[in-house]
Amino acid sequence: MTKSITVLIPAYNEEPVLPKLYERLSSLANSETKYKFEFLFVNDGSNDGTLPLLKELAIEDHRISYVNLSRNFGKEIAMIAGIDHVDSDAMVIIDADLQDPPELIPDMLNLWEDGYDDVYARRTKRLGESWFKRTTSALFYKVLQRSTSIPIQRDTGDFRLLDRRCIDALKQIRERERYTKGFFSWIGYKKKEITYVRDPRAAGVTKWNYFKLFNLAIDGIVSFTTAPLRIASVFGILVSFVAFIYILYLLIRPLFGVPTGGGYSSLLAVMLFIGGVQLLSLGVIGEYIGRIFNETKQRPLYLVEEYHKNKAKK
Ligand code: UDP
Ligand code: MG
Repeated sequence: MTKSITVLIPAYNEEPVLPKLYERLSSLANSETKYKFEFLFVNDGSNDGTLPLLKELAIEDHRISYVNLSRNFGKEIAMIAGIDHVDSDAMVIIDADLQDPPELIPDMLNLWEDGYDDVYARRTKRLGESWFKRTTSALFYKVLQRSTSIPIQRDTGDFRLLDRRCIDALKQIRERERYTKGFFSWIGYKKKEITYVRDPRAAGVTKWNYFKLFNLAIDGIVSFTTAPLRIASVFGILVSFVAFIYILYLLIRPLFGVPTGGGYSSLLAVMLFIGGVQLLSLGVIGEYIGRIFNETKQRPLYLVEEYHKNKAKK
């Protein structure tokens, strides 16, 4: 029996790159005759011509399926929406903007045939990304890795091939605040790395800005580890200890004849410091409570407007 492979593409306003992407995916699938391919697009509430274009392509090419979400839910949710609709032997997640070269897929397939469950692509160089984006990204990985015992793969995106068992595992993770990259690490299974040079976007504009990236970074840390809560407690203990010693010193000082001096400034400094620590700790606790709140609402992760299943596969 021929094995089936689903290529999962989350797409939000990707009209300019879609024809190019389709061309490259299609020529790849044509050369890999051993497998039955499905191109599963998740239209994440695009407001350009992405959906009509997908429908058009789907009429001509029976390998194309699409899930049309009811609005824009963000890439993390778009991915789980796609994963829920995958029933193939393996799946490759790829960005629509061709920053992940589809030409790596044959290498991934070979390693998958060798028995690896999760073949992920690590970028060695990033073209077309600013110095600031590169350094902040490096810093984020460092902080995340320090704060958790699960190994986090550095410099990897969502571009990877996943075996059936990984797909089934991912389907079970129904958290609302999603940090999918962390889930790939969390599920485990046999992993294999391949490296590539990340290309700049082929066309269109990035949907990420630093605010979104900052949010994703916070989500990544908070959804993955409770270490910040611990840090807040440890810091609290330290500050109280120092304050306690200082009070002792103030009490003992007059016994040795040193007059107690007035000191607005030191008082103010201590108060501001403690106040700052308290606000920070409250903020940290708030982050987790917010997440508990969101999870307890038990809303569906996404809503589907329309699902078109390709006809090629049985
Ligand atoms: N994307 C999505 N929903 C969004 C934002 C992005 O499905 O709300 C998709 C987008 O179409 C692309 C992938 O996620 O296929 C990566 O987005 P982008 O290239 O903008 O991010 P970057 O590569 O700059 O991190
Ligand atoms: Mg991109």
